[in-house]
Amino acid sequence: MSKLRVDPIRCTAHGMCAELLPERVWLDDWGYPVIDGEPLSADLVEHARRAVAACPVLALTLDQSSRPAGREPRAETTRRR
Ligand code: SF4
Repeated sequence: MSKLRVDPIRCTAHGMCAELLPERVWLDDWGYPVIDGEPLSADLVEHARRAVAACPVLALTLDQSSRPAGREPRAETTRRR
């Protein structure tokens, strides 16, 4: 399951990602990307990789976690006796 994420602090609104992946990324009124957070279909993953590689400030990442959405791992706990 792959999802695109953008780091809004790093992003400088070049707009390359929206040009390379218009199916999932569009630009707001200021030129910053709005990303559809749904998992990418297999046919879009390669296009997403190209968009990630094209980002000049490394603000775009592809999260390829296999964990289902909303299922975070439990934190380790230690018991006191
Ligand atoms: S290509 Fe990178 S810097 Fe440009 S809008 Fe997309 S995420 Fe932001």
